[in-house]
Amino acid sequence: MSDSQKYYIKTFGCQQNEADSERIKAALEGRGMKPATSYKDAQYVVINTCMIRESAENRVYGLVHNLGELKTLRQTQGQDYKIIITGCMVGVAFRDKTGKVLQKIKKAMPAVDEFMPIEEVGFDFAPLRTNKISAWVPISNGCNNFCTFCIVPFTRGREISRPYQDIIDECRELKKKGYKKVTLLGQNVNSYGSDLILGEKNIQVMRDLPGKDYFEGIHNSQAPNNKKFSDLTASRRFQVSNSRVVKPVYVKHLGRLRIPTLFPYLLNEVAEMGFEVVDFISSNPWDFSDELIDVIAGNKNITRTIHLPVQSGDDAILRRMNRWYTSDEYLSLVSNLKSQISNLKFTTDIIVGFCGETERQFKNTMKLCKKVGFLKAYIAVYSSRPMTAATKVMKDDIPHEVKKRRWQILDDQVNKPNLKKSKGIHVYN
Ligand code: SF4
Repeated sequence: MSDSQKYYIKTFGCQQNEADSERIKAALEGRGMKPATSYKDAQYVVINTCMIRESAENRVYGLVHNLGELKTLRQTQGQDYKIIITGCMVGVAFRDKTGKVLQKIKKAMPAVDEFMPIEEVGFDFAPLRTNKISAWVPISNGCNNFCTFCIVPFTRGREISRPYQDIIDECRELKKKGYKKVTLLGQNVNSYGSDLILGEKNIQVMRDLPGKDYFEGIHNSQAPNNKKFSDLTASRRFQVSNSRVVKPVYVKHLGRLRIPTLFPYLLNEVAEMGFEVVDFISSNPWDFSDELIDVIAGNKNITRTIHLPVQSGDDAILRRMNRWYTSDEYLSLVSNLKSQISNLKFTTDIIVGFCGETERQFKNTMKLCKKVGFLKAYIAVYSSRPMTAATKVMKDDIPHEVKKRRWQILDDQVNKPNLKKSKGIHVYN
């Protein structure tokens, strides 16, 4: 590779992909490349893909097709032109043990030179950020939740937390450089650190916790992976920054302990660094701990606009989505937060037209939205995604026109009146 080679990165999807692209950029510049202003100006094009909806996937196919023509032209002129695909599409392909997905995308995009798993970029390179005021800071990657509509556990794999100290060091560096805002990023920030505390293997069984005694070493006979619970509980004290030892926070949900987490400590420590704003995305309702509420209440610079994905306001749909709360539990979390923190606003994600959603169930979503008074809802029309449980065992039976109509009704109800107050983020979680 010559020093004169230029790269161009196209990023599809969410903030996590944007943050990944900042690290790809650093890795390429570390190899001596320079940024190009367009595809035409580049010799090395990286496309960071998204699969959250079919339309995002199709845009990648369209782009690669066009770039393929440019590549052929360059080759006839004796010039180098490389197309690299990374992100969600590659994540799914490399996690598919049959190899069929990789075969399929290779066939659909013959012009591609390399399919690069995003894990190969790692965290070895400090991200190259263009924004000098506000920074994304990934704290974990992947998700253990398996909502039935969502492809993320297949694109990004199981949740892996970044080491606590690495995140603290990165945030301190940002503060020194004069950044005013940081946003801590993860598919489910509330479970940050569970794998650090229990070990990756044990985290796989979190949903089957037998009850509050789980962490107290009583039900030794039910320990996962033949481990004694005393082995698991031995690590209940966890070292965070400056050799400080803390007791992980145990998230209580549905009357039992669900996960241990370090997120309240992390958020508090970042907030105490003195940024003007500290934000976090996304925060799943079933893992929102009381301690996290206390930390937000105690730090005025932590965001007062909480992104809390609800997805549906109907209990039967929530169950089919494998979301671990009822509409009442969601509302009670909202009211608990509002009662302890003044001037709080909420944004959310909602899917309309999920498999089997009736008019009455859709209206339940409208009712819930009215009760919460969201500042903004990121509304998606349901689209079936490969490998997900919804695709495998449910029927995508709501006609597209009905989905569109519901989308419009909800958008008119929730977003139109608040257009000017929007926080300006876009996530799907
Ligand atoms: S919707 Fe969010 S919590 Fe559910 S599986 Fe996807 S990333 Fe995980």
